[in-house]
Amino acid sequence: MRDGLQVVAFRVEHIGAVVVLVVDAADPRRPVVPAARGERRLVESVDGLAIGGPEGDVHRAARLTPLREEEVGLALERVARAFDEVHRQLVAERGERLDVEGLRGLDVGDVECDVIDHRCAFLLFVILENGTVRTMDASLPVARAVAIAGEWVAGGVGTHETALASPDRVDLGGRCVMPGFSDAHVHFPSWALAQREVRLEDTSSLDETLRRVADAVGSVEPGRWLRGRGWRSGDWSPPVEPTRQALDAVTGDTPTALTARDYHSLWLNSAALAQADGELAVDGGVVEVDDDGRPTGVLREESAWLFRDRYLLGSDDEFVDAMRDGLRIAASRGVTSVHDKDGWLGAPRFWQRIAADGGLSLRVWQSLPYDFVGRLEELGLRSGLGDDLLRIGYLKVFMDGTLGSRTARLLDGSGVQITSREELAEIVRTGARGGWPVAVHAIGDLANRDALDAFEETRDVWAPLGLRPRIEHAQLLAEEDIPRFGQLGVTASVQFSHAPSDRDIADRNWTGMTDRAYAYRSLLDAGAVVANGSDAPIEELDPLAGIRAGVLRTLDERDAWHPEQAVTVEEAFEATIITPAWLARDERRRGKLLPGYLADLVVLDRDPLAIEPEELPEVEIVATMVGGRWTHNPPPWD
Ligand SMILES: [Zn+2]
Repeated sequence: MRDGLQVVAFRVEHIGAVVVLVVDAADPRRPVVPAARGERRLVESVDGLAIGGPEGDVHRAARLTPLREEEVGLALERVARAFDEVHRQLVAERGERLDVEGLRGLDVGDVECDVIDHRCAFLLFVILENGTVRTMDASLPVARAVAIAGEWVAGGVGTHETALASPDRVDLGGRCVMPGFSDAHVHFPSWALAQREVRLEDTSSLDETLRRVADAVGSVEPGRWLRGRGWRSGDWSPPVEPTRQALDAVTGDTPTALTARDYHSLWLNSAALAQADGELAVDGGVVEVDDDGRPTGVLREESAWLFRDRYLLGSDDEFVDAMRDGLRIAASRGVTSVHDKDGWLGAPRFWQRIAADGGLSLRVWQSLPYDFVGRLEELGLRSGLGDDLLRIGYLKVFMDGTLGSRTARLLDGSGVQITSREELAEIVRTGARGGWPVAVHAIGDLANRDALDAFEETRDVWAPLGLRPRIEHAQLLAEEDIPRFGQLGVTASVQFSHAPSDRDIADRNWTGMTDRAYAYRSLLDAGAVVANGSDAPIEELDPLAGIRAGVLRTLDERDAWHPEQAVTVEEAFEATIITPAWLARDERRRGKLLPGYLADLVVLDRDPLAIEPEELPEVEIVATMVGGRWTHNPPPWD
């Protein structure tokens, strides 16, 4: 950064034509990549510094920074040389996409500018036309078409169609295009593996659960674990708690581990318990015991997680395999980016393996457990490390347990404390030194208050750095704490699906308190930034399902649960598209379909913003694109 010069943007506009723009002050509300245009603004039109298009996409401050001509010349020379090389290849490989690694990280002269838009130098032109394009930008909410050049949105049709060499034209046939969906809270490797386990989510009694487990035992190879997930004893009738004896009866000596739906309890049979050799108790954990003081087979919180970490983790190959399938499922649901929470499990190395052979088909904003912070600091690693697809972004902390396990920490004194207010404040301070924002799991009203207190106490440390802290779940809130999210600038990273999905348990465990539970409307009205995720595998990784849940507040034929807390369709999409991009510091290149934004988009069979909310369940994903590449169901569609 020199003398206020912030950005040099350049791109191949046609084959052989290069546009260079020097922007001395980028407007934070605008992308810096210029729209593709017909006129050739070649390097020679640079004319000192006053170059570039007059397009509104680039804000130019009134006074340009004086920069010596030879400095600009040097920069442009290097750019031109690089593009010469690209041009030679383009001529040879016209029609094919090309990653030009030589351009990656090119530093332009001595001016230390950020160089952007250089990954895919050969711009594949595509125009999606004859539909409704929801840009998610208030200045131009709807367009009839969108032009895509390489990885980027180039603009709406009208300006561009005549300019593009020979664009592919895709007839939307009245369909709708929106920016791709983000899932702001997902345990992707766990979810992917869970697709292959015994699923118990919809079991309504202990007997039904055991029957399903019994059916699966035969398929387990000798010496392997039988894994399952999704049980919730609160859903069972007659009401009964799970025991190892019940499980033993159907599993025999096949070690069996069934994770509760909320992930905070683990139900083991005797063969599984035997592997732990009695070492089950741990701080912050619960080992349920029977009248004789012997383990019932149910472990909660830290005890459950310790057991899982020691005995239950899948192999890297298992995870990577499952994740490849998972990526296909995610794409089929319109997902173009995820905020992953499985850093503790080794997610970064799984993603890297997948990325290494070009299989990473969505963008990842990855968390790491907060206790990595010391090592990160030692290595000098800062938030944002990575590339366009995979970045290590934030630290993850737990304040308390969950609703289902009755371990959420409440103002009435119940629940389990995993991290104290003081500890969290210290974590936030340490994280901030390396530029790491903190995402903290808090479910109970006391856990949320402690988290807000810690963020408030440390605000002068993280706020000036522009860090974007977040509370995950924010499920039960004291009335007076609701406005604090907006006041402090702490994002409520919620899961719209949890409200209707938890309604029965919440009515039971939080009797008399549910008017301040899952209070998404109140949060928004009080000025909070709200992001939406699935918490998959707890709910399904399916943004449209989350959006429906947020708007309709019901999953079945029952009336809406606390409909006064419903969000609008627009708000639900904003929480699923724009806010997660902002949390990942990508607000200037993702979350909108504006020129210069990444071409991450989803095609829907109809415009969800133009129908009655009751019709939302009928909206279907047609196709998904990430960075200009179709990741699900490429056209034509008829
Ligand atoms: Zn989670």
